[in-house]
Amino acid sequence: MGYPGRTRFFRPWAISACCLAVAILAVSCTPSDRYLIRRQDRLSAETRYVRVLVGKFRDEVVITSGEKIKVTDRKSERFSFIDPGKKVGFRAESLKSPLEVESWNSPLAVNGKRYRGAVELHNVTGMVYVINNVKLDDYLLGVVPSEMPAGWPLEAMKSQAVAARTYAYYHILKQKNQLYDLDATTSSQVYGGVDAEKESGTRAVASTSGEIITYQRMPILSYFHSTCGGKTVDARHVWQNSDFPYLDSVQCPYCSESPKYSWEYRLGINEIKAALRREYPEVRTIQGISLKKLQGRVTNVVVRHGGGIVRLTGNQFRLMVSPYKVKSLFFSAEKSGKALLLKGKGWGHGVGLCQYGAKGMAEKGHKHRDILKFYYSGVEIINIDGKGQREPSFSREVARRTARPDSHD
Ligand SMILES: [Zn+2]
Repeated sequence: MGYPGRTRFFRPWAISACCLAVAILAVSCTPSDRYLIRRQDRLSAETRYVRVLVGKFRDEVVITSGEKIKVTDRKSERFSFIDPGKKVGFRAESLKSPLEVESWNSPLAVNGKRYRGAVELHNVTGMVYVINNVKLDDYLLGVVPSEMPAGWPLEAMKSQAVAARTYAYYHILKQKNQLYDLDATTSSQVYGGVDAEKESGTRAVASTSGEIITYQRMPILSYFHSTCGGKTVDARHVWQNSDFPYLDSVQCPYCSESPKYSWEYRLGINEIKAALRREYPEVRTIQGISLKKLQGRVTNVVVRHGGGIVRLTGNQFRLMVSPYKVKSLFFSAEKSGKALLLKGKGWGHGVGLCQYGAKGMAEKGHKHRDILKFYYSGVEIINIDGKGQREPSFSREVARRTARPDSHD
C-alpha cells in the first residue's frame, strides 16, 4: 500500500489498530450488516484461528524449530520432515505451490523470530509471504504486550486483550477469501510472536478467553489508540463512511496522566509545502490554510496556493505531514512567523478505547468490562466459548482455512 500511514509511527504499544492507515483500509472493506449477520452463527470454532501476515521476503526465508518440522505441499499434499534444530530455507522462485510448515511442541523460528502455530509460505509476485496460522488466543499473547506496556494494571491489559480479540474476529469474518486476515504491524495490530509475550499479557488473554465486544450481536470494529486527550471522537469525523454507532465520542477524564496528554509542535509553512508537494506537485506557494473542526478535532483542511486549492480531510493532512509531528487531530493552530504553532491534546486518532484512559480507569478500580463499555457505546461483552480459561500452547492443530465449507462468499 502506498499511503503514508503504512509507516510505523508510534511506539508499538501506543499505536493500535488505530492508525489512520488501518482506518483507510477498514473503511474500504467494511462489511455490510447483512454479510456479518449471515455469519453470526459462525462465531466459534472456525474463527478460533487467525492468519497473520508476518513478513514478505525477497531473500531466503530460513525456518528452524527445536523439534521435527513437517513441510507439506498444499497442492499435492506431499510432505517431508526436517530434523530438529536443522535449518530449512525457502525462496520465492522455488515455491511452485503454497507450503505449510508445522512443528510439534516447539515454536517455529522464521528468520530467527519465533511463532506459535504453523506457517504458510506463498509466492506472491516474486516474494515469499509468510503467514502464521495460529490459534486466536495464541496470537493475542504476542499482541497484547506489543500494544500496551506489560506493567500496566491487569484490568487495563484485559480490556486490551478483549479489544484486540474483537478486532481480530471482525477481520476474520470479513477477510474470509483473502490470503490472510491481518498483518503483524500497525496497519492491523502489532504482533511480535513468542518473543513479545509477557506474563501479564498471557494472564490477560487467558482470563478473558472467548470474550468479545458485540453490538447488535456482531463483533465490533474495536479501534483503540494511545491517548484521547480528554474526549474521544466519533469515527465518522475521522474517516469517511465510518458511521459506527458504538464509536461515538465520550468524555474521558482518565488519561490526564499520559505523557502525550498535551503537546505542541511548530509546523513550518515550508514543511507543509514539502509534504503537500509529494502528492500535489503543483503547490508552489502557500497563501492560506483554513481548518474546520468538529468535536474539537480538525476534520478538514483547505490549503490555498498559487495554482488553486487543495482540500484534505484532517486525517489526510496529519498523515501527509507526519503523524509523529501532528500527534492527533485534537489541536488548535495559530500563525507564528513562517509557521503554525500547533497546540494539541492526545496521541492517535482518538476513536474507541483510550489506552491511557483504560489504565486510569483500572487504577481507580474499574473492571475491564466496565472500561470497554465506557469507551464503546451501547455494546455487550459476550463469551463465545461459554467456558473457562485455557492454557496457551504450541499446538499444531491448525485449521485448514481453505477447507471451510462455505467459501463461496
Ligand atoms: Zn482518554
